[in-house]
Amino acid sequence: MKKIPLVVATKNAHKAKEIARILPPRYELHTLDEYPGIPDPVEDGTTFAANAAIKAEAVSARVPGLVVADDSGICVDILNGAPGVMSARFCGEHGKDDENNRKLLRELAALPGQAPYKAHYACVISLAQDGKEIASFPGTVEGQITLNPIGTGGFGYDPLFIPDGYKCTMAQLTAEEKDAISHRARALRLLADYLANH
Ligand code: IMP
Repeated sequence: MKKIPLVVATKNAHKAKEIARILPPRYELHTLDEYPGIPDPVEDGTTFAANAAIKAEAVSARVPGLVVADDSGICVDILNGAPGVMSARFCGEHGKDDENNRKLLRELAALPGQAPYKAHYACVISLAQDGKEIASFPGTVEGQITLNPIGTGGFGYDPLFIPDGYKCTMAQLTAEEKDAISHRARALRLLADYLANH
């Protein structure tokens, strides 16, 4: 069967790896490494869906064919949904996972007696072509934050996040176990169903 080309519009190597792992083999994935010089769009949306669309549309205006982008993050109930769309730059700088995690732990430790700290991961995958979003696909996974980070798998906030129904953090799961329940995997499975039917 002829593979369907799909450009994955992310510079986050962890996300790219998960996307490649989760999407079925019928897709021929291309990365932004093949399209150097595309500027990073300003992610000024207030929702994951808005930011995913901004990224997918910006890249698809400059590359041929179908483009997918992921916007995702962690939302903590007691913090009114923060870090949310600011997850990657919660500490002030983009992509500093350890500092982001330390800041989240500091904020929760300042709220004694509030455990369990209910939280969820959210992901929206946007599919675009020729600069316009075609469809978008949400995924979430519920859980809680532990003040005792543990685990070396995954990335980002995974050492702090205990998915509901588990006794360990997302960072202690194998890649297959994370992919069975993750927000990203859920959104990508909806994308794959959509593409298989259109
Ligand atoms: P984005 O690149 O603006 O979508 O930021 C996503 C940020 O959310 C990442 O940098 C991580 O901090 C966090 N995040 C998203 N998905 C995951 C995940 O699967 N595990 C851990 N952290 C995640």
